[in-house]
Amino acid sequence: MAEYDGVRALVTGGASGIGRATALALMERGATVAVLDLQPDQAPPGSVGVLCDVADAASVDSAVATAVSELGGLDVVVNNAGIGAQGTVADNPDDEWLRVLNINVIGIARVSRAALPSLRDSEHAAIVNTCSIAATAGLPQRALYSASKGAVQSLTLAMAADHVREGIRVCCVNPGTVDTPWVGRLLDSAADPAAERAALEARQPTGRLVSADDVARAILYLASPLNASTTGTALAVDGGMQGLRLRPR
Ligand code: NAD
Repeated sequence: MAEYDGVRALVTGGASGIGRATALALMERGATVAVLDLQPDQAPPGSVGVLCDVADAASVDSAVATAVSELGGLDVVVNNAGIGAQGTVADNPDDEWLRVLNINVIGIARVSRAALPSLRDSEHAAIVNTCSIAATAGLPQRALYSASKGAVQSLTLAMAADHVREGIRVCCVNPGTVDTPWVGRLLDSAADPAAERAALEARQPTGRLVSADDVARAILYLASPLNASTTGTALAVDGGMQGLRLRPR
């Protein structure tokens, strides 16, 4: 029997990047998957694509209800949809703060709130939130994004405490720099994208960017029905970016 046989999973932002790799890995291991995304037509083949804007409560409530009905229940929620934000506190007006926090932080609360009644009926319920090393790293020019991911990590711990007695585990995965369309767009906006990519790779202790599949495997470990004892955990998948102190080559 495959690890995820019979598991019903919902992945937000599953049409691209980390979410897409996660949806595909879940299906490969036997799960049935609903992808909640602004681009449901881009959901991976075999999944149920559902239109959802995590920034909007009515959209989330309706999309989670559709997912639960299509899957016949819910065991795993991967709160992965998120957006980037550049700059210092001086660069971002209030409306930009509110826009990003609404998606990256309140979006997770909204989807989880809508999913909890179904998760309570599951034998092995888990929520995994996609956080970032920005939550704890002190990255320049990422004030708003870092604050949003710091909140995701705190929210993960608080939710883990609130729901552990209901049998619902809550963890987060903290990726470093992942080779997804998002990072591709950032590189494409540089004057010399190839040189920028090479510089980015050289900054990684492993010499390579993290792959979306690397992060998907970590999410599958945290969400696994075989993993009953891991909750409130933040798992870094960062190629050693945060923990290692290497001498220059
Ligand atoms: P991506 O841009 O490739 O994919 C993001 C997906 O989320 C897209 O399918 C998009 O349509 C969807 N989405 C965006 N806003 C949405 C909304 N309001 N409602 C529903 N869906 C929405 O991005 P990615 O690189 O795969 O990033 C996914 C997550 O990983 C994000 O939370 C991001 O903060 C986090 N992350 C990424 C990196 C990285 O280097 N790429 C590093 C650390 C953390």
